[in-house]
Amino acid sequence: MSSPSSRPDLSGARLLFTDLDGSLLDHETYDWSPAVEWLSRLHEAGVPVIPVTSKTRSELLALRHALDLTETPFVAENGAVVGLPAAWCHARLERMPGPDGLVIKPLGVDIGFIRQRLVVWRERLGLRFTPMSEMPLDELVAFTGLSDEEARLARMREGSEPLVWDDSEAQLEAFREGLAGDGLHLVRGGRFWHATGESDKGQAVRWLSERFAALRGVRPLTLALGDGPNDIAMLEAVDQAVVIRGCHGLEVSPNQPALYRSRESGPAGWAEGVDHWWGRGERRCEPALMASDNDNDRVGSVSA
Ligand SMILES: [Mg+2]
Repeated sequence: MSSPSSRPDLSGARLLFTDLDGSLLDHETYDWSPAVEWLSRLHEAGVPVIPVTSKTRSELLALRHALDLTETPFVAENGAVVGLPAAWCHARLERMPGPDGLVIKPLGVDIGFIRQRLVVWRERLGLRFTPMSEMPLDELVAFTGLSDEEARLARMREGSEPLVWDDSEAQLEAFREGLAGDGLHLVRGGRFWHATGESDKGQAVRWLSERFAALRGVRPLTLALGDGPNDIAMLEAVDQAVVIRGCHGLEVSPNQPALYRSRESGPAGWAEGVDHWWGRGERRCEPALMASDNDNDRVGSVSA
């Protein structure tokens, strides 16, 4: 595990975007203690830590309090839903925040439409898959390791539908083609495939970076961390990126010159990645790093 050994210079406008499951949160236990030191350092420096996740808004609300991230925006459902605290709202563009102090910006497609088209394509092509909305609660609990209450919140979707795929690669391609005709596509997460509209994590990250620049009059230095294929668009939409070692064996290779691959997984890899980019002075002007182990060797001492 790495920790900020000396006081890093976190001056200048910065935004940190992070995936949750398998990144800031442990894939199995949902623990984030290895990241606590960096989270409090970023909080002290006034750097917004912005969760960008496949989770729902309902799931995120309690987690934002637990992580002490109530003053920062969030991106839910892989980019379909953006939540803005008052300080991130534009007086002329948003209505008054709701009772929880948040304005919700839907960037995606209505969930009713998505669910309807999933059923249509399943019947038409004879596919085998199970949307989360059709999974009994106890089955969802067993599959995800979430508590009953957490699983209930996970099913409160607004702009994307997770599904468990139980069919062939060929059928998956046919399914993709069908959904594309509806303006929908599939994104692979850690446990589920997610059917969504054209929104993705990258689009939401760009939207928030532009909003920050519009409100503050300065372009922020952006860093993103993620472990899954559904993080690729986000990792490509920022200045600096970290692919956190995954537990799923899926390839995550964003087109991003400023890329670091962590040795550790989960929140320990998260802290290692933040430490790499922001823990030892400014790396902004460094030559592009390639996504290979050799490049990590060059900077391997950061996790010592
Ligand atoms: Mg993840």
